[in-house]
Amino acid sequence: MFRSFKLSDYDCVCLDLDNALCRYNISNLLQLQYRLLKKQMVDRGYNEKYFSSTLSAEDIDFIQKGLFMDFEKGNVLYLRADGYILKASHGTSAMDAVQIEREYGKSRRWAVTDSFCVNKLSTWNGPLSDKMRSFLDYTDCQASLVFAQAVDFVDAAKGRPDRYRIWPDLLDGIVAMFSSGGGYAEAITEFPGNYLRKCDPQVIEWMKSLKSAGILLVLITGSGESSASKTAAHCLGSNWKELFDLLIFHACKPAFFSEKRPFVNSKETSQCSELQFGFCKAYNGGNWNAFQDSLAKFCKKSEPRCIYIGDNLIQDVYAPEAYTKCESCAVVEEIAAEGFCPGGHPDKPFLVSKRWGSYLHDNETSSDTVWGDIVKKHSHMCIPFLESFARKPISFEFVPFWPTMVETSV
Ligand SMILES: [Mg+2]
Repeated sequence: MFRSFKLSDYDCVCLDLDNALCRYNISNLLQLQYRLLKKQMVDRGYNEKYFSSTLSAEDIDFIQKGLFMDFEKGNVLYLRADGYILKASHGTSAMDAVQIEREYGKSRRWAVTDSFCVNKLSTWNGPLSDKMRSFLDYTDCQASLVFAQAVDFVDAAKGRPDRYRIWPDLLDGIVAMFSSGGGYAEAITEFPGNYLRKCDPQVIEWMKSLKSAGILLVLITGSGESSASKTAAHCLGSNWKELFDLLIFHACKPAFFSEKRPFVNSKETSQCSELQFGFCKAYNGGNWNAFQDSLAKFCKKSEPRCIYIGDNLIQDVYAPEAYTKCESCAVVEEIAAEGFCPGGHPDKPFLVSKRWGSYLHDNETSSDTVWGDIVKKHSHMCIPFLESFARKPISFEFVPFWPTMVETSV
């Protein structure tokens, strides 16, 4: 179905920070994270020889956002929209159809991922989150390779167990990697140019043109103010906060859209019921409905029209549309790497995968993946980068295809 899309139709554009407004050098980022997480696993007793000294072409091809880890069985899964297991791997070894059916039955389904397919937040927290996890962005997606290699180690060292217990170690390792002294924050702070890309000047001009047109520009990020400031200052310049009408830190998505957490003034600890818009106004926490109420008063409109633009297909795309009236636009860099848009992608080897297939659509079975289904059903538009919008006037009417991607060169 044709659905036209114009940014000038919106009263408010809300932006995610990491991997949406601020782009990373994904090749360098994933290699850094792999090296740091491998060290954490070795420190927890996993044999170093089952991990790679540097990522091989085969390792890089294994990495993909949105793979599902079955913690107990030690498997990694690539799923069709309805939960059917299209491809699977035990550790790093590809499973054939017979092996998949032996583990998951003739229907090639698993109750835990079936539950996820019905309600995408059902496995976010609670008991099912101890059974499976899918890493959804470049902040952690290389961890599915580390998980698979840890399974290889357990199989070789102890024989194949009935139930693997790698997840608690992997989770500890991920938390330690991102904590002070874990190496991640230190590397980004010391060598930001290795890991972050400077924002295209056209994107900054586009942000200014939205404001000039009377469209409010709001940052909603899960990051805290100090870590967001380091990233944003490198990508956008030291005056980056002035580009926004409102800044929301520690947003805790997807709960920001699905729950009722209070806003806290970022300079104080007191809760606020009504938000003030304007120069460098900033808050922590909060929820969409409270934001929408303040926005309605500020705009003097009962239902101001908003769009949230972000890369995480659960937090930024599914949650806004499933729980609020906020529309969403998916930023999916894979569509550039996979050749859907002219111009390609500088980190293509890390974003495409011959082993698993396309991120959004399995060409072998002509079916959408779980992620392609979310983009189709829950996003109003899908772009590879914000540059896709910045190259056009804000009143430009985009012609979507498949059915919500923007075909535009960047
Ligand atoms: Mg993001």
